This record gives sequence, C-alpha cells and structure tokens, in this order.
Amino acid sequence: MDLFGYINDIVAFFQRPIWRNLIYGFVYGFIFILIVVWLAFVYWTYRDSKLRSESVVSAVFWALVVLVLNFLGLIIYLILRPPEFIDDVIERDLEIERMQTLLDSKQSNCPACRSLIKDDFLICPYCRKKLRNSCINCGKPLSLNWKVCPYCRTTQ
Ligand SMILES: [Zn+2]
Ligand SMILES: [Zn+2]
Repeated sequence: MDLFGYINDIVAFFQRPIWRNLIYGFVYGFIFILIVVWLAFVYWTYRDSKLRSESVVSAVFWALVVLVLNFLGLIIYLILRPPEFIDDVIERDLEIERMQTLLDSKQSNCPACRSLIKDDFLICPYCRKKLRNSCINCGKPLSLNWKVCPYCRTTQ
C-alpha cells in the first residue's frame, strides 16, 4: 500500500456523508437548545414577576420584554424587578402589625397563671396574685420592688 493510496483513504473517510449529517445535527441541536433556553427565560421571568408583584399585567409585560430582547431583557428585568416576593412583604407587614398591637395594648402575662393582664393591674383578676403596689401618695401602680414612686418621688 503506497502513501497516496493511504491519503486517499483518509480523504474518502472524511468525505463520507455521515460527517455532513453530524454537522447538521449539531447545528440543529444547537438551535433547538437555544429556542428552549429562550422560552425558559420567558417562562421564568413571567413566574418570577408574578411572585413579586402579583400583577398578571406586569408579569406578561416582562415576559414579552424577555421574549423580544432575551438576554438583554432578562438583565433589564433583573435590575428593575421588585427586590422581594409579594408573599414575604405581606407576611412581614402582618408581623409588624401583630407586634404593633402587642406593644399598643401594653399587655403581658401574669407570672403565676399566665393569663393575659394589663401592665397597670395591681392584682391578677384570675388568680389573685399581687402584681403591683399602688403608690401611698398618688396611687399609681408601682413594681413590687420599687423603693420610690417615679411619678411623685414619694418614698414607699
Ligand atoms: Zn394570675
Ligand atoms: Zn406616687
């Protein structure tokens, strides 16, 4: 077998249609993956926007932006989107509201029976535990261990 015959064999090998088909396969596969990723971006943007604003209109708007601009649209959306999920915002607002009512009501629990009592109660209405003294001068409710009334400066 001479050298030219050997080279011809190699050339013939690479001229076989399987190579052309492989290249077409790669190109079509690449385009297919590109389309899938593109649509995945659109879907992800729609879902993420809906979770953050609960507005279908803005979710559809951003999905369209990403559909047209793809990567660029996605970057714009990531910059402009609300920083928090709407559920987190609602939950945090509820928590703040709950804390506020707790603070406003000035309520606490009886150290003996755990019943809900107001801070200025002198005695627990449920178990009769003594909670505070009333000032001997002005009658304001004082903690049991206070030596002087903070309202009228009278020593107890
Ligand atoms: Zn009690
Ligand atoms: Zn007093």
